[in-house]
Amino acid sequence: MKKSSFLLLTALICAFAKIQAQTASSVDPPFWWAGMQNPELQILICLPDAAAGKVSITARTARLMETVRMESPNCLLLYLDVSKAAPEKFDIVWEKNGKRTSIPYELKRRKAGSRERKGFDAGDVLYLLMPDRFANGDPANDAVKGMREAKVDRSGQYARHGGDFKGVADRLDYIGDLGVTAVWFNPVLENDMKEGSYHGYAVTDYYRVDRRFGANEDFVALTDKAHAKGLKVIMDMIFNHCGSEHRFFTDKPSRDWFNYPDSFVQTSFKTSTQYDPHVSTFDKQRALDGWFVSDMPDLNQRNPHVARYLIQNSIWWIEYAGIDGIRQDTHPFADFDMMSRWCREVTDEYPDFNIVGETWYANSAGIAYWQKDSRLSAPKNSNLRTVMDFPLTFAMEKAFDEETDGEKGLTRIYEIMAQDMVYPDPMNLLVFLDNHDLSRFCTTKERASNVDRYRQAIAFLLTTRGIPQIYYGTEILMAAAKADGDGKLREDFPGGWPGDQQNAFTPAGRTQMQNDAFDYMRRLLQWRRGNEAIAKGTYRHFIPTVTGVYAYERKYAGKSAVVFLNGTSKAQTLDLTPYREVLPRNSAKEIITGTTLDLSRGKLELKPRDVLILEF
Ligand code: CA
Repeated sequence: MKKSSFLLLTALICAFAKIQAQTASSVDPPFWWAGMQNPELQILICLPDAAAGKVSITARTARLMETVRMESPNCLLLYLDVSKAAPEKFDIVWEKNGKRTSIPYELKRRKAGSRERKGFDAGDVLYLLMPDRFANGDPANDAVKGMREAKVDRSGQYARHGGDFKGVADRLDYIGDLGVTAVWFNPVLENDMKEGSYHGYAVTDYYRVDRRFGANEDFVALTDKAHAKGLKVIMDMIFNHCGSEHRFFTDKPSRDWFNYPDSFVQTSFKTSTQYDPHVSTFDKQRALDGWFVSDMPDLNQRNPHVARYLIQNSIWWIEYAGIDGIRQDTHPFADFDMMSRWCREVTDEYPDFNIVGETWYANSAGIAYWQKDSRLSAPKNSNLRTVMDFPLTFAMEKAFDEETDGEKGLTRIYEIMAQDMVYPDPMNLLVFLDNHDLSRFCTTKERASNVDRYRQAIAFLLTTRGIPQIYYGTEILMAAAKADGDGKLREDFPGGWPGDQQNAFTPAGRTQMQNDAFDYMRRLLQWRRGNEAIAKGTYRHFIPTVTGVYAYERKYAGKSAVVFLNGTSKAQTLDLTPYREVLPRNSAKEIITGTTLDLSRGKLELKPRDVLILEF
């Protein structure tokens, strides 16, 4: 063969290989950046016979350190030293049977300020929404040809409904106007599953958003648009399991990529086994290695290649999409040491970035075990800054209905708050009335019409310690109970679909009661924004059992807010003597009504189930 024709053939093969690589999404991550803290880059290539032949790279500034072949002939792992990498394009090259094929790769230049991005904290309020159920901005993407669930059915609670990124992008003004500061999306990554794919927790491609929401570029544009409106973006991630249609499972790189790789063994869901000092080996293994459900096999995070893959994936999304936070699903179901390492490595790359782990326990001690610097897990450290305060949620489900008496009513909240002694950092607890997995705070329409209950709960949520999270629709009193099915907790936001009878995104489309609820939440959210007493302040509270009134002070740098919640259905004239230590002046502005209250008589008039927020 003449040299010129050999070169032509090589070029043709290269061109073919490049086209194939672009359409198959078979190189993870599809690109990376120069100048990251971690000196190592893992590249997982899944292509027919990827493991065959001799592999090299043509990079000038990155160096191929290690090539790892696994059990599948179609998977190949490369480990590159990128400690001295500069932005550059290069090829990954195979030589086999005298033929040369290649895939282009790129180390990009990082955006300025990427490392310094600000995470979320108690100055923020998160708005959680499920992308399939919030708003359908593009009916053309409802059914994507070739995907396993290629239809929508709004009458089916477990079917896809068609919501997407454009729907959210078009409603960012609504979300921003409400006064929240961050949007937490239920998972947006591809879920190419036969059914039930709408909730997003069965990922089939860690590097691609679900096309029924839009393209990767659309998610980046949505994040940019949110930022332009002063809203942070929090991405939901799942390291514990993936969808059974993921290539990882259908063509396993190696058997030990998964726990129980050969057959479905369900987790016991008892993640108390993570901290239980009396735990049996059997129980711990069943809880942590068992699968979540039969179509969500359990990833083995103790496999160092799996660990590296997941860690890098999260960093890729932070860098690529510019997100501000991560919510980690089923955090305690995964390997403690790997999750700890993940949190540390993310913080190494982005020192102020924040992650909230789903720590679903009914007791504060179990949750505290998972918070960064916990004495309970020492000498181990989870490095997880934010954990979820489920016990407070369970207390709030009842506290605003019951008469405060003995251990009931607002005393439930007092007792939970008193247990803050177990937390290294109570200000980094996520606080919430409900979420996509729980009964809505308004379980029924009747409960939604209990205005006092709503007003007390929202006031408490937005003034207590920690980072409040609001589930979409709470502001318009959407009601649902878990007993009626998880899909009912995730109903469509009215007005999000073309032709909807009601459009609750506008005042004219809301009922009077919905407008009252919306306006009330909005007023408190707007007031909370930038309020340092709430975002950074100390918490001092008063036992509610004598009067049934729960009172607490938030104070920072000489400014304070003092909240009074009447936990009884009786009007009361409250003697202020016990509260003198938090009442620095004899008059204060009340935030909800905007009136000035005279405290010089030493009395405070409280209506049944009243809530007052005094600002000093
Ligand atoms: Ca759509």
